[in-house]
Amino acid sequence: MYPAFIGLGANLGQPREQLVYAVQAMASLPDTRLTHVSRLYGSPPIGPQDQPDYVNAVARLETALTPHRLLAELQAIENDAGRVRERHWGPRTLDLDLLLYADDEIRTVNLTVPHPEMVHRAFVIVPLLDIASDAVLPNGAKAASLQAATPGPDLLVLAESGWWQT
Ligand code: ADP
Ligand code: MG
Repeated sequence: MYPAFIGLGANLGQPREQLVYAVQAMASLPDTRLTHVSRLYGSPPIGPQDQPDYVNAVARLETALTPHRLLAELQAIENDAGRVRERHWGPRTLDLDLLLYADDEIRTVNLTVPHPEMVHRAFVIVPLLDIASDAVLPNGAKAASLQAATPGPDLLVLAESGWWQT
């Protein structure tokens, strides 16, 4: 089994429900155990501002799935949630990113690990530190030492740990 960290994001009308769905779906993946889930955060959108705020969290899995198989499973969860969204809430907005997988550095056409944007994003690094305060990137950088570990006033705590248990 290898540790893997997953970044979750949604900016639906009911984004929290989408993230609950995603956590429970990840907990049900084959050969995989859900071990930790961060607090729930709110952050303003990156890019166009004429869209709702995002809801974010990070989860830790232990899995025997390969990184590419895990990515495929995450994309299937995104798609399942997308089908729900198309009926009720409009366009796809569940995003599941494979942030870290053991100490692997992966650069293939469809998968880059560590996720290239993660080190710049407080809405990824702060929830990661909730559940792995000693997290280290494959290049040796400590997550706690990154600039993104010190969030600005835009990053809100929306719910304490346990928010995904219904
Ligand atoms: P965003 O960059 O905003 O997360 P998307 O989720 O739409 O945008 O991007 C999905 C694409 O990113 C997929 O086609 C996937 O193959 C690719 N990708 C590359 N590396 C990763 C990763 N570490 N986690 C998730 N998707 C990745
Ligand atoms: Mg993505």
